[in-house]
Amino acid sequence: MLCLSDNTIQSIFCCCCSVQKRQVRTQMNLENDGDSSEEYTWHPKQLSYVSAHKNRSNRVCVQPSQRKPLPPLPQGEDHGEKIRVMALYDFLPRESCNLALKRAEEYLILEKYNPHWWKARDQTGKEGLIPSNYVTEYKLTNLEIYEWYHKNVTRNQAEDLLRQESKEGAFIVRDSRCLGAYTISVYSRMRRNDEVPIKHYQIKSHDSGQCYVSERYLFPSIPELIEYHQHNAGGLITRLRYPVGSMGNCLPATAGFSYEKWEIDQSELTFIKEVGKGQFGVVHLGKWRSHVLVAIKAINEGTMSEDDFIEEAKVMMKLSHSRLVQLYGVCIQQKPLYIVTEFMENGSLLHYLRERQGRLRRGMLLSMCQDVCEGMEYLERNSFIHRDLAARNCLVSATCIVKISDFGMTRYVLDDEYISSSGAMFPVKWSAPEVFHFNKYSSKSDVWSFGILMWEVFTEGKMPFAKESNLQVVEAISKGFRLYRPYLAPMTVYEVMYSCWHEKPEGRPTFAELTQVLTDIAETG
Ligand code: ADP
Ligand code: MG
Repeated sequence: MLCLSDNTIQSIFCCCCSVQKRQVRTQMNLENDGDSSEEYTWHPKQLSYVSAHKNRSNRVCVQPSQRKPLPPLPQGEDHGEKIRVMALYDFLPRESCNLALKRAEEYLILEKYNPHWWKARDQTGKEGLIPSNYVTEYKLTNLEIYEWYHKNVTRNQAEDLLRQESKEGAFIVRDSRCLGAYTISVYSRMRRNDEVPIKHYQIKSHDSGQCYVSERYLFPSIPELIEYHQHNAGGLITRLRYPVGSMGNCLPATAGFSYEKWEIDQSELTFIKEVGKGQFGVVHLGKWRSHVLVAIKAINEGTMSEDDFIEEAKVMMKLSHSRLVQLYGVCIQQKPLYIVTEFMENGSLLHYLRERQGRLRRGMLLSMCQDVCEGMEYLERNSFIHRDLAARNCLVSATCIVKISDFGMTRYVLDDEYISSSGAMFPVKWSAPEVFHFNKYSSKSDVWSFGILMWEVFTEGKMPFAKESNLQVVEAISKGFRLYRPYLAPMTVYEVMYSCWHEKPEGRPTFAELTQVLTDIAETG
């Protein structure tokens, strides 16, 4: 079923409402752009945070006052600008140039080779390259060093996490929908039976610059506020009893297995089982050096322009984000060529949705859209166009985080049925008008596809325009028809997907804007 709309953004109408354009703040948040110029100051007496470290969690619990100081640096070396970091995860060296990391230990960053691989020195003076996403700057004001802090968690993911824990006073602190603000999410059964047993408290800023949850208790910093409320409810529904560590136990993917290492040795791969079949060939679950789980995509001969892809792979490996399926490298010594990526335990998003029809809560559906939107915001910021965004090209991790896959890959497909807009396999139903008419791709054409992906998510995996042929869809879209509102999608959510389907690219929001709007919806319900 289709619903008719006027064709211009100023007056887009769906069945019963007009779409309001929201004022949204554009969030530019460059990865690994930590402010390294700020001087490190350490006041051991200032705070003492003691929290029980949980084995199952990778988040580190810190007791800054117990840290061993770093050894003195060799004479004559200027270490005034070197950054002290703390490891968030263990890292096993993979090449002789790597340095091992041990969770909760301190290191000094000597040089940033690129945004993803940094040269570091450990406390014994050993030096080597480490993945930058395994460490965080060690200063007491950096929330990442605390076990209770979760940087990238939506309201719904926070609720799921705390529900799994189901312990009175279990809590986390997460980024709030307002840039630079934070929210405490806490589990308590003291709420009425019909209420969700989780409360969210925004940490507010007082005119004096101090922060608070309850205005009667003001603190100079968030760690101090949390420490206070760990011992006293102080206006909260319960005191903050149990910090809950990061979701799952998975180590984050690194941008390639080591610095500038894009070629993978076939003898280091083992095949475990077949997990799928795509347009290029079979996909296997496998292991690299018998300890890193990977997906190995075999590329059947004649399906891909391989040399072009290999060149591009070197660039694509440098795209690294928690909501993108990481490309680890390629194996080119033999035919077929293998593409090696992060393995995603729960398979394709489309399959995941269809398998769980009727069982996924709306909040979870929204969370999935937020994951994809965040990953797309990163691609947009890096001027990288996906060109084939759809639920079939997203994958779901063991902890049910959705990540974007196959970005940019259509450029290397050789089959005309896929690449010509009149070809039977061309994804017309996900394509913006300027794509099916003029082959004009941009981040804004990705935004159109994102709107269709949202529709797929909120219909739990339905085929868009199921009854129409590609040609009929082109005609309908050109006349202003758009997809109907899925019944699981509240009007606020439908407005977002609808805003992605503006006829003109410039009338569509950016991914940065969409991220903000979706966060607002998730927070306010
Ligand atoms: P194509 O080359 O056609 O895009 P896909 O990437 O969609 O092929 O892979 C086909 C199937 O293989 C997917 O639907 C999924 O089930 C499985 N698969 C692909 N990549 C991964 C991965 N990284 N982790 C787990 N399963 C994967
Ligand atoms: Mg695919």
